[in-house]
Amino acid sequence: MSATITPAQRIVIIRLWSQVCKDRSWKASDRDLRLAKFSELLGREIPSMDDIERIDECTKLMKSLKAMLGTDLNAARESDDQTINQARVIRSQILDNLIPCLELYIEDVRAYLTTIIESKNRYRQTDRPTRELTLMDLDARQLKHIQYTLAGRLNTLRNKKGETIHQMKTRAMVYCTCSECTKGRASHSVRASLPPTTIAA
Ligand SMILES: [Zn+2]
Repeated sequence: MSATITPAQRIVIIRLWSQVCKDRSWKASDRDLRLAKFSELLGREIPSMDDIERIDECTKLMKSLKAMLGTDLNAARESDDQTINQARVIRSQILDNLIPCLELYIEDVRAYLTTIIESKNRYRQTDRPTRELTLMDLDARQLKHIQYTLAGRLNTLRNKKGETIHQMKTRAMVYCTCSECTKGRASHSVRASLPPTTIAA
């Protein structure tokens, strides 16, 4: 009985290896790199893949390669989740705070927003969907950029109208963080926690 790996085992190992390479941007066709890494994982120098012993080493190698892959996949997933979460937070800040205020000064905020999004993301025009771009199409970095732009525009519009931030936010019915409101909320926290009927009476 041969002590070396079977063709089937070889296929599994090569497949795992090419996934690892893809994850790490390594060249899968680099035989020297492959043998060097396999030697490292097995803890002994192997001159060729045929030199891998059938049971123990084969299992060890598969496990190690899967571990390399698993770690990378989890790390990638985690950073993806973080970016998606960040995008979600910025998107809701735009929708909950900026848009209601912009609506005080601009008639068609939706069209206004689309124009800004599209002018800021011109490079996307070649492969963009045929429909108009929306906040949902943007990643966290792009959303941050739109948020800054909108906040700047809003500031200009508000000043033109001669309103304070508090006046604007009160009219737009969005949560105001000015010092007056913050102080008010703190001293009325007991009252605010009472049911609405109690306050009305
Ligand atoms: Zn206020």
